[in-house]
Parts: sequence; C-alpha cells; structure tokens
Amino acid sequence: PSIPNDLNAFWMPFTANRQFKKNPRMFVGARDMRYRTADGRDVLDGTAGLWCVNAGHCRPLITEAIANQAAELDYAPAFQMGHPKAFELANRLVDLAPDGLDHVLFTNSGSESVETALKVALAYQKSIGQGSRTRLIGRERGYHGVNFGGISVGGIVANRKMFGTLLTGVDHLPHTHLPAKNAFSRGEPQHGVELAEELERIVTLHDASTIAAVIVEPVAGSTGVLIPPPGYLKRLREICDKHGILLIFDEVITGYGRLGAPFGADYFGVTPDIMVTAKGLTNGVIPMGAVFTSSKIHDAFMTGPEHLIEFFHGYTYSGNPIASAAGLATLETYKQEGLLTRGAELGPYFEDALHSLKGAPHVIDVRNIGLVGAIELEPIAGEPTKRAFSAFVKAYEKGVLIRTTGDIIALSPPLIVEKQHIDQIVDTIRTVLGEVD
Ligand code: PMP
Repeated sequence: PSIPNDLNAFWMPFTANRQFKKNPRMFVGARDMRYRTADGRDVLDGTAGLWCVNAGHCRPLITEAIANQAAELDYAPAFQMGHPKAFELANRLVDLAPDGLDHVLFTNSGSESVETALKVALAYQKSIGQGSRTRLIGRERGYHGVNFGGISVGGIVANRKMFGTLLTGVDHLPHTHLPAKNAFSRGEPQHGVELAEELERIVTLHDASTIAAVIVEPVAGSTGVLIPPPGYLKRLREICDKHGILLIFDEVITGYGRLGAPFGADYFGVTPDIMVTAKGLTNGVIPMGAVFTSSKIHDAFMTGPEHLIEFFHGYTYSGNPIASAAGLATLETYKQEGLLTRGAELGPYFEDALHSLKGAPHVIDVRNIGLVGAIELEPIAGEPTKRAFSAFVKAYEKGVLIRTTGDIIALSPPLIVEKQHIDQIVDTIRTVLGEVD
C-alpha cells in the first residue's frame, strides 16, 4: 500500500506524533516477530505492538478464526440475545483465571475495562448496603487508560489536570519505584510491606467506611515497568480484606503471559476481587477487554437481597462474535505453544541480556520481570524525553522497534521471541546508546 500524500485529517494527539508527520514511519505488513515498513524493510518487534501482540503477528489460527466468524455470524447483540462464542470464551477465561474469579464482563478496550471495574466496585458496595463507600484509591504513576474514571484513579497528573475535578474522592498511594535499587532482583522484603502500609494511612485519614476499592497494576507498565518490592501486593490484599475494601488489579499489560504466568495475580500469588484485562486477550488484533469478578461480587448483583439495584452497563460490541472468535483462537494459540509460561523460561536470558546494558552510555537503571523490561536513561538537562526518543528513532532505522515512555526505553516482545531476537534488540540498543547525544 502507498502512503497517502495528506496526513493531516488523521489527528494523532501525542506530541511525538507532530514529529512523525514530518518523517512518517509506517508499517504495511507484519508476520510473527517482524513488521514490514512502507519502504520495504523488516523491523523486529521489541514491543508486541503496544504490549498486546503476545502471540506474534498475523498468526493463521487467529486470522482464520476472524475471517470465518465474519463470514458466518458477523454481529449479534449481547443484550436479551446472545451467541455461543461469547459464552464459550467466558468459560475458557474463567478456567484460565486464578481460582475465585468466576465471572466475566466483556468490553472493547483496556480503558473501558477500567471504567467497568470502577462502576462494578461502587455498585457492589451499594448493593451490599455499603453505599457510603464511594472513595477510590489509585497509585502514583498508575496508568488506567484515557477515560474519565481511568485518568481520575490514574497517577499521571499531566493526564488529568486540564479536566477539572473528574471523579471526586480519589487518593493515590505512593508509587513503587525504588530508584537505583532494582526492586525486582535486590528488593528488601520489608520495604514492600512498608510501602503497602501507606494504604492504612489513607484509611485512617478517611475512614474505611468511605472507601470502595483500590486499583493498581501489579507491575506499572506504561509508566516505566515499576516492579513492586516483595510482599507489597500481598500486604495490600490483607489491608483491603481487613477493611472491606475491594482490590482491583489492572492487568491490561500484565495479563496473558507477560510476566511468565497467565496473569500477574498468578505470578504474585495474590488474587484481586476484580481483574481488568484487554490487549493480549485477542492478541491485540481485535478490540476487546474482559473484566473478571469474584462470585461474591457477581452474586450480590444477581442473587443478593438487593439484586434489583439498577446497574445499567454494557457496550454495543460487548462480547461480539468476531472478537469472541479472536479471543478463543488466541487462547488456543497460547495453549498450543505454551506461550503463557514462556516468560518464565526465557526470563533469565532476557534479564541477563538487559542487565548487560548497565554500563552502556546514559543508562541509570535496568528493570525486568518475565518478558517485560525497562532501560532508564539519564535525561538531557532541560530536554526530557529527547534522548530516549532519539534512541527510538535510531533503533527503528536499524530495524528494531522499541518503545519509549519519558526517558525510559520499554521492551515487551511477543512471547514467541527467541534468544537471537533478544540479542538483536539488546545489541541494537547498545549501539544506539553509543550514538545518541
Ligand atoms: N490499563 C493499563 C494498565 C494499560 O497499560 C492500558 C493501555 N496501555 C490501559 C489500561 C488502556 O487500554 P486501552 O488503550 O486499550 O484503552
């Protein structure tokens, strides 16, 4: 396909994309670990698209399932009517999820899954007679999508400051980033517990009877792969239980094998009340999200004493046939190829490769867990993001796609990645770090 001459109509809001329009980098094809660019080059995908193409690109099982479904039953509503694949997918997901997460609500994205989870949490509290529990607690540097609820609980101030009050009654836990400590390999166990105790401080401030839920990413992804110190999530769980607060995990990135286990909840051995997923659910190919809840929550709506509480929620495309078919084929691919535990097998190799960048120019920290990692660069004084962005452009020119967030390079290759791909990604980063200012 040729590139249109006029690139103005498509509004790409991010600042970096202003630069893009002067020098467009476009993909026109993809297969397995690689993209094909408009100028005919192959680019190794070090990021699984946007952390979503976990099984690699254009996988036949998935693309055929989508084509077949589109030809057979293209759309069916999921209100009052249904179709078998959505139910089949829900069953498969519940089988895969940690014990105790027994029901699924379908959405079309991570952002919608977050909104769904927050609404379920508030409505659940009301349905069990805890209507005073309206406060929500997020975490600094948490990312929960771009909708109003998500930016309210999200911990990126710049994303919410132009929108006024947003959701009121939101507090943020401190983030879990321990600079220059490499929280994953050298964390101090007691530190995780101490950090989680910050939740007790917020509870004391507002009283538990006003707090509905806490939402965190098990590992904060898009703000730079911030891995919680040992004991952190377990302690959060304990404090939530003690005070009747729901715990929500946003697993949009950590779900579907990214950490080397099906979900972050499995990896850390901590089960939330509500689990938010999207991206890898359909291999990033068709928009779809799934929000898992415990039976306790589901039953309060469906069989509890106040089950007639109005909960008007659902999207036109929730559990639509084509997305459901894509989800089923994706789960089948993960299963057939053992991809959900591949991060555990390749994790040590990935870790060694990443950590070999520790002495490279500008590198101030390296972090990794499963098949996700970050290389943090010293920002250029007065010009934040410039150095990492320039590394991104140079790596792309050398045939490797990396992602940058601020001055952090993030890596999350498709789970089909092989050792030689990891070597190519890391060697390219080493080279470009030697070339950037
Ligand atoms: N939550 C998390 C943890 C995410 O990483 C993202 C997307 N990067 C979202 C929510 C939002 O997902 P989407 O872009 O599909 O709306």
